[in-house]
Amino acid sequence: MENCLFCRIVRGEIPSTKVFEDDQILAFKDIEPQAPVHVLVVPKKHYDSIMQLKAEDGALLAHVFEVIQYVANEFDIAEKGFRVVVNTGKEGGQSVDHVHFHVLGGRSMEWPPG
Ligand code: AMP
Ligand code: ZN
Repeated sequence: MENCLFCRIVRGEIPSTKVFEDDQILAFKDIEPQAPVHVLVVPKKHYDSIMQLKAEDGALLAHVFEVIQYVANEFDIAEKGFRVVVNTGKEGGQSVDHVHFHVLGGRSMEWPPG
């Protein structure tokens, strides 16, 4: 998607602080961190939201969770605990229409979320 913000970050047209990258996934630091650790795990392929994911994307999704584990280990939040958030749609608080997984940690999380 030409003008999608995260597609542009994936293509390197907009800089990001990369945490992990391979052929399928890019993970980078959120520009407006909501916790001491706030990393976005982003499939390179464009999907507007999780509503576009299908069974055939299962291997990619499993890999997303491997990368989330890598991020948790790398930032030393695996043992302490952390939160994975996927905001979806308007009321879900999604502001970038390219599917992404927030990894938040380094502080205690509250429930219910706002
Ligand atoms: P969401 O609101 O769930 O769609 O999440 C989008 C996230 O992208 C927000 O947490 C933003 O702070 C983050 N964000 C927006 N622009 C950038 C950017 N250029 N680099 C890194 N993160 C960004
Ligand atoms: Zn995109």
